Amino acid sequence: MLIVMKADATERETMEVVRIVTELGLRAHPLPGAQRTAIGITGNQGAVDASRFENMPGVAEAIRVSKPYKLISLDLRPEKTVVRVGGDAAIGGDELAIIAGPCAIESRAQAFAIAEAVRRSGARFFRGGAYKPRTSPYAFQGLGEEGLKILAEVREVYGLKIVTEAMDEAGIDLVERYGDMIQLGARNMQNFSLLRRAGRSHLPVLLKRGLAATLDEWLLAAEYIMSEGNYNVVLCERGIRTFSQHTRNTLDLAAIPAVRRISHLPVIIDPSHGTGKNYMVTPLARAGVAVGADGLIVEIHDQPEQALCDGAQALTFQQYEQMVAEVRAIHDVITPAMVK
Ligand code: PEP
Ligand code: MN
Repeated sequence: MLIVMKADATERETMEVVRIVTELGLRAHPLPGAQRTAIGITGNQGAVDASRFENMPGVAEAIRVSKPYKLISLDLRPEKTVVRVGGDAAIGGDELAIIAGPCAIESRAQAFAIAEAVRRSGARFFRGGAYKPRTSPYAFQGLGEEGLKILAEVREVYGLKIVTEAMDEAGIDLVERYGDMIQLGARNMQNFSLLRRAGRSHLPVLLKRGLAATLDEWLLAAEYIMSEGNYNVVLCERGIRTFSQHTRNTLDLAAIPAVRRISHLPVIIDPSHGTGKNYMVTPLARAGVAVGADGLIVEIHDQPEQALCDGAQALTFQQYEQMVAEVRAIHDVITPAMVK
């Protein structure tokens, strides 16, 4: 159930609804919006009695939710969510969010060289894995905590916000210590205990779509995080497994407007894993921004041919700079036309 408060409802009236919900043994999720506050109710097995709330002061209506998700939905929050990252950066606002960096942190020198290029481009976010989910156990697995320490230095020196993957719950503890945003990878999209742990974090979460996840499964994964009280979730379309062999994955561009129609959460694209091929990254980055993505996460490298992970899809600095100029130009053209 959703309780929609009147536009002029007071804080006290909202808190009174929250109190009653809690008293019923349920969880209240008040989400203030531009026009009004709505309160999502979770934890109920059957239907909640609407009459309990309908006549309370400040309540406009109590709406029964028939969809599988509540908190991610536009019914709860009709306007887009802007997710704040590291205090003064945001994803989902007017500015196109660009998250760039290597697939994996390989050394301090490598990370710094790449961070220099990221900062030069005006991007606000630096990506880089310290824990890498690799298909082969013999492939480079990441530097672990040492990699996170390098990332923390990058943040210090370049002022970039750190987006980095956690593969397990202990990993989230560490990302909380060194990073600004927890990336949950495609392979972990339905690791429900990890989703719940991320839902109890104070850091925002970048939730990648699973390799074979439907839209509903992906949105419900976001719902898991939000149901624990963390409302700062950004969705990331990173390509899905199809019969196509000309790309590593098929970047599902239609997912962007499809998410937009259902959810208030920001959604970005990953043209690197979405294609796996250097020459396709920029064209698909352009396309992703053209269909309305709030940003992109892209892999770049100072020496792609020597990268320890995903070199084939890494952009060179020059290619990256060109791509940034192009996607920004596209974003500027379409932004006024879009409902933000
Ligand atoms: C990554 O971003 O480096 C990564 C492993 O992505 P995904 O989980 O989408 O494969
Ligand atoms: Mn990668």
